[in-house]
Amino acid sequence: MSPDLENTERFRSTLERLADDLAVEAGDPPGQFRTAGSAEETAGLLDSALQDLAWGRRRQILEALRRLHHGSYGICTGCGRPIDEERLEILPEAGFCGACQREREAGAEARFKEVQSDEEYV
Ligand SMILES: [Zn+2]
Repeated sequence: MSPDLENTERFRSTLERLADDLAVEAGDPPGQFRTAGSAEETAGLLDSALQDLAWGRRRQILEALRRLHHGSYGICTGCGRPIDEERLEILPEAGFCGACQREREAGAEARFKEVQSDEEYV
């Protein structure tokens, strides 16, 4: 069940354009972890970190295109409710509604704090 998105075609072309742009930006697939030594190597690491980011986003964009293809674009993967069109305008690859995204981020933060407080007792 797809939400009645008037601009589905526009979202599709935006996503396809982003995927193409990022394919250029991302270059080769994410490399293996390297240790930094010289300034050149550090710059290389930064590049590869940016590339990893580009790859991560591209993966999400391709996922969104897949959802578009299957007619589930714009539906929250978490709660199954439609994602605000305003949100999709800003983040066309969004797979979660704002509420679910906040919940996920809060969960990740809580887990991070748990790890931190565990470490205090080591
Ligand atoms: Zn949701």
